[in-house]
Amino acid sequence: MSGPQVLILGAGPAGTATAIGLRRLGYAVTVISEWRRFAAVEGVSQRVLEGLQHAGLNHALDCAAPPSQRRVRWNSQESAQNVEFLLDRPLFDQGLREDLRVAGVEIVEDRVLAVESSPDGHSIRLESGTELQGDFLVEARGRQAPLNQKGGKARRGPETLSLLSRWQGEPGPVASAVESLPDGWAWMARLADGRCYWQLTLDVASSELPGKDQLPAYCRERRAASALVCEFFGTAEERDLELHARSSTAILSLGACGDNWIRVGDAAMAVDPLSGNGVFQSLSSALQAPAVINTLLQKPERAELARRFHQRRVEQLFLRFARVGRDFYADEQQWPEQPFWQARSAWPDRVASHLPADFSALSIERAPVLRDGFVDEAEVVVSPDQPLGIWHLQGLELAPWLRRLQSEPEAQVLAALPPEQRRVFQGWLLSQGYRPGQGS
Ligand code: FAD
Repeated sequence: MSGPQVLILGAGPAGTATAIGLRRLGYAVTVISEWRRFAAVEGVSQRVLEGLQHAGLNHALDCAAPPSQRRVRWNSQESAQNVEFLLDRPLFDQGLREDLRVAGVEIVEDRVLAVESSPDGHSIRLESGTELQGDFLVEARGRQAPLNQKGGKARRGPETLSLLSRWQGEPGPVASAVESLPDGWAWMARLADGRCYWQLTLDVASSELPGKDQLPAYCRERRAASALVCEFFGTAEERDLELHARSSTAILSLGACGDNWIRVGDAAMAVDPLSGNGVFQSLSSALQAPAVINTLLQKPERAELARRFHQRRVEQLFLRFARVGRDFYADEQQWPEQPFWQARSAWPDRVASHLPADFSALSIERAPVLRDGFVDEAEVVVSPDQPLGIWHLQGLELAPWLRRLQSEPEAQVLAALPPEQRRVFQGWLLSQGYRPGQGS
């Protein structure tokens, strides 16, 4: 296949979704990845499963456990309304590789040691000694992606550490639970075959942890002190106990796209694991990436627009999750003086996570949008809650109709729309706080 060669570093959900999107656009793609070095379980929502399907990650999707109830003990109250789907990550990652194979993507199983980039292309040095050359680079190595390339600055949340204990227990029903603690929170899950997971998330600055060798025993003591843990896992012996420590600080890359490279998934923005939205956000940035890359490669005159599109979307998504997370932390009020809760209930800022509808605050602006596989520019309607703007709603372009409403009688504007689009437009107007007669 001729044409530009795209290299993707990392075969997590972000790298895989980007690779498959690029294949659909006809690009030659090589994914270079090693396997993750530890076996974790993660919980995702129904909408992540829909996102996986949309991205063509069907083998990965098949690895999700059946829905299970998530118990939540937060601010001394217990609830169990949430349904969660558990992903056994080693199995899920194998499913992703299978999806890559089926899509005809070349996979190189190796560790990336160094990346050298110039405006003409990229040279990748691998642990096996091989060197690969490519025209365009997709950085999808997750949290391991170095931030020291061009535009390597980042915005970081409070430094956070997660300690994952994993052991073999007795078989039983699939389940998960989360509980708040004076110095952090814990998430726990068990799979049908008896594999058990308990993840303690703490503040780096204020936690006083023992040395590495003592950590498994420390975590065991913490588990023994929790009534929920004892109830959840029972009294069976913890066989083959292993512990893995990793950073879970929220990180936003302030340079997520250049003229011949892009960062997707956790490499672009890694969210606090409390949100349970990491896989969702990694798919979100990866699903838009193929059109951004297509634009950078085929329509370089639009490079600035394409870069702006990606960066703004990544930043908005990050801030939205960060603010929702902040509100959830603020709901926990048993230990407001504790450093863990103090720092997280005030970060990233005080801006409300959802702003109330205000019709008078709507404006029409030109902004980057996705059209026919490319980033293009169009008029969008910007609202306080949707700062990136809305272009289309169920096929109806909003800006021209809002403009007409601002200068023509409402009845005349509505009469000019076909019935189905009129219904869509009226529904949207009401959701924006519009009251009949408020237009022109
Ligand atoms: P990753 O999935 O991390 O994939 C990166 C890939 O790159 C891996 O295959 C890795 O092996 C490879 N790689 C890395 N370095 C190299 C190298 N040098 N050479 C070659 N290959 C390399 N999300 C949820 O949705 N639900 C949860 O419950 C959840 N819990 C979490 C708990 C914790 C403690 C943390 C830190 C995160 C959690 N997440 C959760 C987030 C989720 O794991 C990530 O958001 C998601 O996996 C990001 O996908 P990605 O494709 O960007 O990166």
